[in-house]
Amino acid sequence: MLRYQLSHWEWESFFKDIDVIIVGSGITGLSAAIHLKEQSPRMKVVLIDRGPLPIGASTRNAGFACFGSLSELIDDLNHSSREDVLELVAQRFEGLCRLRERYSDAAIGYQAWGGYEIFREEDAPLYAQCLSVMEDFNKDLRPLIGKDTFVQADAQLPATGLQKVSHLLLNQAEGQLHTGQLMQTLLRKAQSLDILCLGGITVTAREEINGQVVIRTDHGWSIQAKLCLLATNGFAKTLLPELDLQPARNQVLITDPIPGLKLKGCFHYDCGYVYFRNVGQRILLGGGRNQDFSGEETTSLDPNLPVRAYLEQLLRQVILPEQATKIDRWWTGIMGVGPAKKPIIREVGAHTVAAVRLGGMGVAIGTGVGERAADLLLGRG
Ligand SMILES: Cc1cc2nc3c(=O)[nH]c(=O)nc-3n(C[C@H](O)[C@H](O)[C@H](O)COP(=O)(O)OP(=O)(O)OC[C@H]3O[C@@H](n4cnc5c(N)ncnc54)[C@H](O)[C@@H]3O)c2cc1C
Repeated sequence: MLRYQLSHWEWESFFKDIDVIIVGSGITGLSAAIHLKEQSPRMKVVLIDRGPLPIGASTRNAGFACFGSLSELIDDLNHSSREDVLELVAQRFEGLCRLRERYSDAAIGYQAWGGYEIFREEDAPLYAQCLSVMEDFNKDLRPLIGKDTFVQADAQLPATGLQKVSHLLLNQAEGQLHTGQLMQTLLRKAQSLDILCLGGITVTAREEINGQVVIRTDHGWSIQAKLCLLATNGFAKTLLPELDLQPARNQVLITDPIPGLKLKGCFHYDCGYVYFRNVGQRILLGGGRNQDFSGEETTSLDPNLPVRAYLEQLLRQVILPEQATKIDRWWTGIMGVGPAKKPIIREVGAHTVAAVRLGGMGVAIGTGVGERAADLLLGRG
């Protein structure tokens, strides 16, 4: 990394008298910055990221506007009380409603095409278990959703073109959005509020000295601010080794456009470890980290070839059987996960808050997490 001194002009214009510095410009960091400026327009808020674009999950995810498939909720019940599971569903659902209201469906590319869970022949016991709890969940969620959330949707199977799938369950209140459009919308909003968004700056250390937060960067700069928010999600352990979270890499592919593609909506498989959807006439498919948990517990953006082979097999045998579809692009993204399916929002210093570990739910909860973290910071200001 090129190390050099900031000029007087650079320091004075960009880095002098910062009220809040936010590290990480994903959904959480951007939402926190926007909330801070809306509460206190005269604050100087600077948002920095190590990448020219964010390099974590927010620009690299699948764009499911989701709040839980039935098997995911059943799995959640193994780790949390029913009350906590329903509370998290409410947070996710309400987070999505607020995002849509605030920025408009057109701006974020939202489509209310539903979220399906697929079951293959070997998943018969899981399907039976899902059916056995479906009515109870529908009853509990009716006050929130206003109708039955989950319905059987086997009749729609032929229209999807899926092969080797025995059953479909539909979550009627889920949708999908355009990940890039959402992030551009948030960025435009931040810029319109005069938030300074800078890419290409990696934070290597943070300390608190004389009531100020001091950030050290890979260019050898020291930047001071009154308050700091760490919104580094799956990378949080670099600066906060004490936090209980791990990175979880995901592999993602997108195909070339497929003339006459029938499939529309978001699809969850294997308790949510595999997900696919249409993006216009293309298929996006990702996940599969349960095929190699230890290999995918990394912050490296490298490919995992066995996991990619597994996903490609699903693409060719289940999603687009007997079609010679070309894969246009592969990429990876990094989530932050932990023992509890809950984000960490807490003070990690007298003048620093962390808002990290958003799991696979950041589209739904990222805005709320950023705002709660900003409020916590303001309470310390
Ligand atoms: C492949 C994939 C698919 C997903 N699909 C969905 C989905 O369909 N629906 C859904 O709700 N959620 C999904 N998620 C999860 C969702 O994307 C995340 O929960 C959400 O984006 C987290 O946002 P964030 O801002 O907290 O973190 P991130 O977007 O990860 O942002 C953290 C930022 O911190 C920066 N950073 C890290 N360390 C430093 C440092 N030392 N110095 C400077 N900058 C640093 C990184 O570059 C990064 O940009 C998916 C995630 C992945 C990886």
